[in-house]
Amino acid sequence: MMALPKLNSAPKYELNIPSTGSPVRYRPFLVKEEKNLMIASESGDPKNIFRALIDTIGACVESDLDTRKLTSFDVEYMFLQMRAKSVGESTKVGLKCTDCGTANEQIINLDEISVAVPEVETLIQLTDAISLEVSYPTFNSIIESGINEGNQEANTEQAFSLIRSCLRTIITEEERINLSEVTKEEVQDFLDSMSSAQFEKIKAFVDGIPKLEHDVDFTCKNCGHENKLTIEGIANFLS
Ligand SMILES: [Zn+2]
Repeated sequence: MMALPKLNSAPKYELNIPSTGSPVRYRPFLVKEEKNLMIASESGDPKNIFRALIDTIGACVESDLDTRKLTSFDVEYMFLQMRAKSVGESTKVGLKCTDCGTANEQIINLDEISVAVPEVETLIQLTDAISLEVSYPTFNSIIESGINEGNQEANTEQAFSLIRSCLRTIITEEERINLSEVTKEEVQDFLDSMSSAQFEKIKAFVDGIPKLEHDVDFTCKNCGHENKLTIEGIANFLS
């Protein structure tokens, strides 16, 4: 029997993982990955969609990469770069005029989208004797914490879940407590026992989690209003 020829000894590209700056080589998606993404998208379940993103990244990256360690902004950025090389460098998005609400179709060049990762203090002093080490949450922990369930109670729980997923170690004069070895309830009790000022410091870190964002200026085709918008989050780049 004759072996079929190999179609795609796919070209290789390189990108830097935003959270670590490490370069990785990757290939574009092939039909098998596109098929998985389509199935996930048709399921309408955000968990399935996010899993498919991370699986696609794992499949297309050349080197061994522990995808469980990637942050949310790593996954969004890496996926978008891979999509640019696979499906096309630009994408069409419908942006609503802030004045009249008319949808204006805009073309966005995916190569221009970047994620800024500022140097931030990851040791938060809570009292003279107690400090808390934080880091950006992994994409995995965000999936595990559940995606927007819609009701207010779920949203509050989700916000706390995101905060908990940033907390790493509590450091006192006597000990270092690794929070991955402590129950979720104990961590929540610790958060609940904070003063507003202490909690604000943690919230400031969480609010500063880097995001995929892109500024777009356009003149509305209907009313002529000059719009200046910032598109955020991967869902808004995929349409
Ligand atoms: Zn308008």
